[in-house]
Amino acid sequence: MASNTERDILIIGGGMAGGLLAGALIGSGWRVTLLDAATTPIMPDGLGRPRVSALTEASQQMLARTGAWAMLPPARVQPYQDMQVWDGDGTGEVHFNAAEVGAEALGWIVENDAVVAAQYQAVTAAGDVQWLTGAPVQNIRREQDLWQVMLADGRVFSAPMLVGADGARSGVRDTLGIPGAHQDTGHVAIVGTVQMALPHDGCARQRFIHTGPLALLPLFGDGHQCSIVWSVWAAEAERLMALGEDAFNEALTQASQGCRGALRMLGPRAAFPIRELHASDYVRDGAALIGDAAHVVHPLAGQGINLGMLDAAVLAEEFTRARERGLPFYHPAALARYQRRRRGHNALMLNALRGFKVLFEQPSLEVRLLRNVGMNLVNRAAPVKRLLAQQALGRSGDMPALARR
Ligand SMILES: Cc1cc2nc3c(=O)[nH]c(=O)nc-3n(C[C@H](O)[C@H](O)[C@H](O)COP(=O)(O)OP(=O)(O)OC[C@H]3O[C@@H](n4cnc5c(N)ncnc54)[C@H](O)[C@@H]3O)c2cc1C
Repeated sequence: MASNTERDILIIGGGMAGGLLAGALIGSGWRVTLLDAATTPIMPDGLGRPRVSALTEASQQMLARTGAWAMLPPARVQPYQDMQVWDGDGTGEVHFNAAEVGAEALGWIVENDAVVAAQYQAVTAAGDVQWLTGAPVQNIRREQDLWQVMLADGRVFSAPMLVGADGARSGVRDTLGIPGAHQDTGHVAIVGTVQMALPHDGCARQRFIHTGPLALLPLFGDGHQCSIVWSVWAAEAERLMALGEDAFNEALTQASQGCRGALRMLGPRAAFPIRELHASDYVRDGAALIGDAAHVVHPLAGQGINLGMLDAAVLAEEFTRARERGLPFYHPAALARYQRRRRGHNALMLNALRGFKVLFEQPSLEVRLLRNVGMNLVNRAAPVKRLLAQQALGRSGDMPALARR
């Protein structure tokens, strides 16, 4: 019989959401183990990786407070002070600037692998939270009031609190019997690293096209590189992915309306079908879901992991709050508060993004006209613009202390 390691909290999944929770629990006094199937995260070097995230100020704060931001090589982090969003089928345009809202930057573009490697370094350097890699969870079951987690190699861990941070295809969500059906958006995101003839000038650009948005996210390097997220219908994605290098570069340059001159792919392109998901519940019987295990949103506003890291920070905050009130940290009331604080907020974002997608898909002249007039009005209305910029910074809603400035 394999030995059973007793812990207080087991986190399944060491992506950015699980990594943030592990960081937030450093020094908490609870015995925490994070289990991840992947190999030990290492800091990327060389050319930018194709998977990047636009992190909000709130996410940057959380990473700084958990020690991970200091582990990121500054040369691999690209802040952006400007954001330009325009309608490819008209003249509507909105331009945001960090100075208008008294911010240092509107956001930061960082490779996902770099964030996880930095989180891993911060957690392992602190020493009290255990982060095990190469540890695929094979089986989870509830024994009286404890969760028992079995790894593929036969090791067993048990704890009263289980956190599912295991991504969109969450096995923890399935074990808990929480419905979270995937909904196909019809879109596929093509991602990759691109060389641009003109510099990015620290500006994140997004062109809305009726077939889907194209984002040009400024990357570290010589100031001429960016990461693209080009969302298109599945059939169009298939056509684009089959194109030779020159033809693809030409199609991409055209889609960007030549805003940065000629664009050229620097590495391979990858395609991800975009599915949405929202778990009907985030908590059950001493267990909670965070990050993509709980919700998957369209990447058109770059919000996915920003929401996931807020989940992690709020959950850690509710554990502490319960303890301060003399309750077990995994008390049902603490978990219910976590769900209340996060599920509504995430549902709002999911619905807003769905609305945006539909609005920009409309080919009718009337809708296009309204859209363009609306965008230009927003661009001239300073208070509305400030409000939207505050949202983009992640400064809105019920923020955990870890995310506040
Ligand atoms: C094209 C694209 C662009 C995006 N751009 C942005 C952006 O700009 N900004 C933004 O905020 N978000 C963005 N997102 C969303 C963001 O990438 C996701 O929200 C985020 O990566 C999810 O992180 P996570 O930690 O919840 O899950 P994941 O990153 O999926 O991590 C899950 C972890 O669980 C582990 N795991 C799974 N099963 C097991 C098991 N049985 N045993 C042990 N470990 C297990 C895996 O190894 C993995 O490490 C984008 C998404 C896409 C598709």
